[in-house]
Amino acid sequence: MIKLKHIYKSYSLGDEQVAVLHDINLHVKPKEFVSILGPSGSGKSTLMNIIGCLDIPDSGDYILDGEYVDSCTENELSEIRGKKIGFIFQQFNLLSELTAYENVEMPLLYHKLSPSERRERVERTLTQVGLIDRMKHRPTQLSGGQQQRVAIARVLAAEPSIILADEPTGNLDSSSGAEIMEILKELHKAGNTIILITHDKNIADQAQRKVYVHDGILTESEERT
Ligand code: ATP
Ligand code: MG
Repeated sequence: MIKLKHIYKSYSLGDEQVAVLHDINLHVKPKEFVSILGPSGSGKSTLMNIIGCLDIPDSGDYILDGEYVDSCTENELSEIRGKKIGFIFQQFNLLSELTAYENVEMPLLYHKLSPSERRERVERTLTQVGLIDRMKHRPTQLSGGQQQRVAIARVLAAEPSIILADEPTGNLDSSSGAEIMEILKELHKAGNTIILITHDKNIADQAQRKVYVHDGILTESEERT
């Protein structure tokens, strides 16, 4: 489903080019749960932005479900993101003036869904993350872990084929982080494709397979049995 072949990416800083990703090759199959582990500054988020169609590589091929994404226009990328990709970030990115229910519902307003289908999806996904009893709470009335669970429900409601999580437990204490990891593992069991980005080995170890990024170079590890 995801194939990265010989991906290179650099950023320009003034008249200097800073090389960030070097010859990245990665293949993620449907329903896999892969973690990308690497230290700060190694290029993980840059890689995630490419996988998530937020950015395109300088060279190399990115093939997503058979389509060459690296040659897409900005509009095409945005359409692919909307259809296929769900993002979970370290900052929960919830809208503070909306309730948990409204935050989850918000992206669905752009989908062709009847009001009853929309309500069913919001209630189902809030139930899935264990927060149906908090649906009228605003983000400031929820704990950090609960806010991240609302963000996950919002992703699930849009039914993406790939979930990309960039340091989803980075702002959480260890017990809330563990709850988020349990949810991701359940989503994997239910058949979701998940790519988890982290600098934390204990978090990365919980995925089905781990790859390492170091100074923009990716190496694979053996699959967990
Ligand atoms: P962290 O664990 O701290 O989030 P990371 O592995 O996600 O780090 P990236 O954010 O991918 O690292 O950054 C990789 C390198 O690219 C860093 O050296 C960073 O300074 C540089 N970089 C990232 N974004 C830009 C940008 N827009 N312009 C210039 N340099 C950038
Ligand atoms: Mg990062």
